[in-house]
Amino acid sequence: MARYPGANTTVSGPWQKTGYGPTLQVNEAHGIVLHDAVGSLGGAFGELRNLNRRASWYATIDLDGKVYEHYASEKITWHCGSLFWNCRLIGIEHVSAYVNGHPSTIPVRGAQLESSTKVVEFLQREHGFPLIRPVTAKEHTEISQTSCPNGRIPWPAYEHEPEDEMGAIEELKKALLIIDAAQAGQIKLLEETQQFLGEIDALLSVGKDVEAEARLRYVYQIAGQPWPA
Ligand SMILES: [Zn+2]
Repeated sequence: MARYPGANTTVSGPWQKTGYGPTLQVNEAHGIVLHDAVGSLGGAFGELRNLNRRASWYATIDLDGKVYEHYASEKITWHCGSLFWNCRLIGIEHVSAYVNGHPSTIPVRGAQLESSTKVVEFLQREHGFPLIRPVTAKEHTEISQTSCPNGRIPWPAYEHEPEDEMGAIEELKKALLIIDAAQAGQIKLLEETQQFLGEIDALLSVGKDVEAEARLRYVYQIAGQPWPA
């Protein structure tokens, strides 16, 4: 059972609010969804403990950077309103920054951002997924209609360069496999797939670097896409 070593407190979520029956309990952990709680820490805990609300998630990060871990990271929780994605992505909530008594759309920053990036790094190490927007790193609104997180996630702060060429290839391979899996699951991911392949095209058009081309040819081959001559 994977537990984040930097968690300040483990505030256990109710055992009843995980998975879908006894056979579907383990998250495939292909990536993450970063949420905004649209409320306070106390409000988030209230939602978590309320057995009448079908809402649960891996961890909550407070404004002061404290990390409250509710379940082991491989547990399926109910965070994004989609059985398919709940089984594949790990959900993290961020306590809202209040302005004039209302949750604001101020981006996650400071201690909260520092903890959030560390938790995401931990999950990547633990479960071995690449962080590729918007394939393995999603916002809630990209899955279902909701006001969360409403622009609060500064995605570039979470990015890091792959260690080397092979690392980059491995990351792209994994992302493409995830797209394949998603399509097999009858989920409408065509747009994202096209965007992703479009990004590869854009990369290719930037330089005529022989190595980069070889790498991209390889990616196209894995994706079963024709090489755009
Ligand atoms: Zn959300």
